[in-house]
Amino acid sequence: MALSKETYRELYRKLDEVTPVPYDCGVLCGKACCGVSGYDRAVEDGDMGLYLYPGEEDLQKEDPDWLRWSEEQVEEEDITSTDEFAALFPPSFLGKELSFVKCKDPMQCHREHRPLQCRLFPTQPHLLHAGKRRERLVLILNDMDLPYTCPLIEEEPPLSQEWLKTVYEVWEVLLTDPLVHDMVALNSLEREHDVGQPTVLWPRARRKLN
Ligand code: SF4
Ligand code: SF4
Repeated sequence: MALSKETYRELYRKLDEVTPVPYDCGVLCGKACCGVSGYDRAVEDGDMGLYLYPGEEDLQKEDPDWLRWSEEQVEEEDITSTDEFAALFPPSFLGKELSFVKCKDPMQCHREHRPLQCRLFPTQPHLLHAGKRRERLVLILNDMDLPYTCPLIEEEPPLSQEWLKTVYEVWEVLLTDPLVHDMVALNSLEREHDVGQPTVLWPRARRKLN
């Protein structure tokens, strides 16, 4: 079952208290991930948008007008891999309706309402040993193809440990939704198949005690 609106509200609240870097990284790139600058961009700003997590739309619909909404139903072709392309979604998503949103005016970000994807960027979850008993969540830097360049990914400045810890805790909750778990597991298995185990950002490796 999807997480409740109140659970999403709590996750937003947790992430309101921390930031990945102690400055506004948007000034480095002109808010490239929000689709407002020409910074190294390969697509039109109008093409930029993001999926909400299952159930997150119930919270966003409390104040829906600053976003452009579209609903997309996951179809057979979206869950099918070809020689050229990996499946977009795992089989459990077939027939599900997902909300895809775009900010009407990214220069006027409604920070208190910004979706989880904005709050978790530029990290991604990865499941080591996905689907096995030894499965373990780690955070990595975003390695998906992006239509822009993010200085936090390219230049790898140190990210706040408090922020990473909070993002990790948020993912522990998100992964209790079986759909989200399936999606992360699919991405993790594909990543390991394509490039092997990724570099772990969090949790930090424990130092050996001599
Ligand atoms: S997360 Fe990256 S792309 Fe987005 S505003 Fe910060 S530096 Fe720019
Ligand atoms: S909600 Fe804010 S942070 Fe997210 S894409 Fe829109 S303007 Fe950028």
